[in-house]
Amino acid sequence: MKFGGTSVRDAAAMAQMIEIVRGRWEAGREPVVVLSALAGTTDALIQCAEAAHRGREPEALRLLDEAIIAKHKEAVEGLLEDPTRRQLLLDSMEKHFQEIQTLLKGLAILGELTPRSLDAVLAYGERLSTLIATAAMQERGLPAHWLDARELIVTDEQFTQAEPLMAESQARVEERVKPLVGAKIPVTQGFVGATRDGRTTTLGRGGSDYSAAVLGTLLGAEEIEIWTDVDGVMTADPRVVPEARTIKELSYTEAAELSYFGAKVLHPKTIRPAVERGIPLRILNTFNPQAEGTRIVGEPTRKRVVKAITTIKGLSLVNVEVRGMLVVPGVAARVFTAVARERINVLMISQSSSEQSICFVVEAPAAPKAVEALREAFERELSRRLIDRVHAQDGVAIVAVVGAGMRNTPGIAAKAFGALGRAGINVVSIAQGSSEHNLSIVVGERDADEAVRAIHREFQLHKEEPDA
Ligand code: ADP
Ligand code: ASP
Ligand code: MG
Repeated sequence: MKFGGTSVRDAAAMAQMIEIVRGRWEAGREPVVVLSALAGTTDALIQCAEAAHRGREPEALRLLDEAIIAKHKEAVEGLLEDPTRRQLLLDSMEKHFQEIQTLLKGLAILGELTPRSLDAVLAYGERLSTLIATAAMQERGLPAHWLDARELIVTDEQFTQAEPLMAESQARVEERVKPLVGAKIPVTQGFVGATRDGRTTTLGRGGSDYSAAVLGTLLGAEEIEIWTDVDGVMTADPRVVPEARTIKELSYTEAAELSYFGAKVLHPKTIRPAVERGIPLRILNTFNPQAEGTRIVGEPTRKRVVKAITTIKGLSLVNVEVRGMLVVPGVAARVFTAVARERINVLMISQSSSEQSICFVVEAPAAPKAVEALREAFERELSRRLIDRVHAQDGVAIVAVVGAGMRNTPGIAAKAFGALGRAGINVVSIAQGSSEHNLSIVVGERDADEAVRAIHREFQLHKEEPDA
């Protein structure tokens, strides 16, 4: 059971979370609990670290006091009644606060912030939330047992974007978690891991979902539950499309595509480990626990063709315009080799790439680097005018139409484009995912939300999903 930041944002939310866990425990299930940091904490820790390394130590410490320490103490006040237990908890939290202060002062002296030191700071958010939750569960009579995720999730050394090493983590989980399951309620941190030699890492923003999936998979869980602040995965981001509906069932592939193309409700890497062992996932609402939520399984029984529309903003379209494609062999291969060498993530390769151009989408901050790498790779062709130019168009977004049934249903793309045309939205570029489970459309960033609404209306996703 993984609970996100809003599900543990304050004493009331934590109390609610604990009752949900109690429900599972008393029903004879054997929960393992993975928690995020209190909502806003990771952002605040990043701000503290950035202020500190720019030499603004007083500001960093003030922010720590106001945005983090005060909030956590308030949660403790609201949750724990027993004075001894409360004091014990506050004492151990105080040690953590002091460690963060020491780290921030170190950053201010060094004047630099490496990914490694950032991870050391960020990991405190989840340590604090789990400490509080464990004490509160114990006070409420649940046999909670705090575990340090750094001793469970072994990762590689890509600080701030670490990858769990499954075999090594499996051994840790066998030794340290399995024996507790059913006798205790293990409570541990999402988002956090450590390298083989024990240096703290994090799995990337929103990575607690991924932690839960990894742990659930290593434990061979019956189900991986992701508890959040909406009734499940919806047909679109409810902040963009107020009439969006909860989707009852998704296939693993559909869920993976949705999260990859911007549905924040699930971290994009969450699906992969679960697929391998065929473990179903469920997305549930902490603030409406009776709702059915979304089930993510291998073979959904419901077969609506288009399931959801998502969007990712803040992108750039990089274009290599080729004059004599035929006389410059291997252009595409060289384009993507050059980009891969810079470790730039290509979100989509555009299909409209005619013979005369190759284009692909990257996150906006990576675009200048991509353009530079390509200019270098094609220097000779550029000077011989075999390649016209290499350039990036900023301010674009991908709108993705997702659904496994699209493969066998003609006319989906035409319908989507019709809707955009009627809404007066210009399509910059398109691609069909190789899985044919999604159609990706590039539009101007300012049009993205309206595009999502237009396509959502066109496929009538606000209506109840038909039964199988
Ligand atoms: P948590 O803190 O629980 O991990 P997140 O904020 O990461 O929660 O994810 C939940 C949020 O994702 C929702 O509140 C919603 O605003 C947003 N969201 C974006 N797209 C979707 C979608 N298709 N379905 C549901 N929620 C979505
Ligand atoms: N606390 C981390 C973040 O805000 C991880 C998570 O909540 O999933 O990114
Ligand atoms: Mg999240």
